[in-house]
Amino acid sequence: MNDDTQHDRPTILIVDDERFNLNLLHALLRGDYRILVATHGEQAFEAALGAAPDLILLDVNMPGIDGFEVCRRLKDEPATRNIPVIFITAMHDAADETQGFDLGAVDYITKPFHSAVVKARVRTHLRLKQQSDLLERYAFLDALTGLANRRAFDDKIVEEWNRCRRSASPLSVLLIDIDHFKGYNDHYGHGAGDLCLSNVARTLSGCLQRAGDLLARYGGEEFVAVLPGNDADSAAVIAERLRAAVDALKLPHQASAAGEHVTVSLGVATMAPSDASSHADLLAAADEALYQAKREGRNRWCALAISR
Ligand SMILES: [Mg+2]
Repeated sequence: MNDDTQHDRPTILIVDDERFNLNLLHALLRGDYRILVATHGEQAFEAALGAAPDLILLDVNMPGIDGFEVCRRLKDEPATRNIPVIFITAMHDAADETQGFDLGAVDYITKPFHSAVVKARVRTHLRLKQQSDLLERYAFLDALTGLANRRAFDDKIVEEWNRCRRSASPLSVLLIDIDHFKGYNDHYGHGAGDLCLSNVARTLSGCLQRAGDLLARYGGEEFVAVLPGNDADSAAVIAERLRAAVDALKLPHQASAAGEHVTVSLGVATMAPSDASSHADLLAAADEALYQAKREGRNRWCALAISR
């Protein structure tokens, strides 16, 4: 039962082997939410994986795989782990409730249903879920620039390293540093420095259009771009595009020895991820290339392609 007109509403998956209960809960919640239903454990797990609902109402007593087992599987699977589960039970048994909470359920509702109680609990747990989703999103964002932060980058680089190793595709990394930024802060003040960082961040971000690419604030005035599937040639093209875009901003920088406006230097490194190397080698190479770009006069990129 998938109502396609309700995609902007929170989605609730209701799992119960008895049609009577399903129909009751469906009638109760359909006015406010998008409702999916499953009548057995296997189907529940598939629906949770496929539709990523915001909340699951899960009957404990079902033939075959019971609710506890479904919950255990949901919590074992990274994609479904954070979906809150409310158990539906007819039993008033403290031991069962304890087992459910131990498995990671957030609440219980008991049969026969009390409409107002069901609605209130559903509303409460959806609100908590939204809040924790929001917190999680902020935890991976850089507050000043709105880009991904260092923590998000640390996760992404490991993920992409492994993905590219499995698919035998190249992985490129760009380290991007604003030239003479300390001088900029000293000359214009930290408020202007923050604006400059935001401006550069927005410009760099506008140059990366592929969905798989990630631009993050690496620290201070340094940014990092992770470009999965990009070989050395295409990484060089992107590096030059980023350099030119910041150059074209013509943000005045009277304290720069690299020019009269704000510029960036970039270190480019490309590897074919393998078991013999790690993402730390890739970053070290990008860092070395960045150092070289600085040494050669800034407002330029240097590249290191590593085959090992
Ligand atoms: Mg049942």
